Amino acid sequence: IIKPNTKNIGQFVLGDVLGEGTFGIVRIGTHMLTGEKVAIKILEKIKILEQTGKTRIDREIKILKSLHHNNIIHLYSVIQSSTSIYLIMEYANGKELFDYINLKKRLSEIESCKFFQQIISGIEYLSKCRIAHRDIKPENLLIDEKNTIKIVDFGLSNFYPSNNLLSTACGSPCYAAPEMIKGEKYNGLQVDIWSSGIVLYAMPVGYLPFEEN
Ligand code: ATP
Ligand code: MG
Repeated sequence: IIKPNTKNIGQFVLGDVLGEGTFGIVRIGTHMLTGEKVAIKILEKIKILEQTGKTRIDREIKILKSLHHNNIIHLYSVIQSSTSIYLIMEYANGKELFDYINLKKRLSEIESCKFFQQIISGIEYLSKCRIAHRDIKPENLLIDEKNTIKIVDFGLSNFYPSNNLLSTACGSPCYAAPEMIKGEKYNGLQVDIWSSGIVLYAMPVGYLPFEEN
């Protein structure tokens, strides 16, 4: 039953807020006919006026559209209105690995290995597509109802250039590779592997190996 006055995006009825980010919010969407759940990332155009924001979102959409892997969130479609851009994505139950570690204090080695294998599998696929994620951290790793890791948030991702070396320092300091922090050029695959190593440490231990300072 569709309530009157609820806002619809395409065939989806907008529901609860799943998360909030730089350019907008992520909300749950329910298909009017099938009841299928999706995550809808709503980007407000008014907040993305500068060119860097535009480039970032164009890249996020272009990259996500091209990816098809079980450990990477799937982008079904993009809908535009005069005020917003809606990314209709596979729904990953909304549980971040970050909250899961905090809840359990620390994960068993077996569970950590299972998650790590999936993270690495996603990163291996990305490297084959010549894409660096550049913001691998437990907030951007979601766990769905089948306990499958889904890598999200491709807002900082980029294609490898021909020499494989990228130069924009980005991501979160605690998870960033030393060469990136030093401001040197870096290999896209290597910095994603570094960040996943930080996640590997954090899962069974419950805290991070390096503090920001
Ligand atoms: P940015 O870092 O580019 O500003 P963001 O942090 O705003 O991006 P995301 O990381 O993509 O945006 O999403 C924010 C939060 O919304 C996630 O951390 C997660 O909790 C939730 N979320 C995002 N995508 C999904 C999804 N497909 N299924 C369930 N929850 C999601
Ligand atoms: Mg994020």
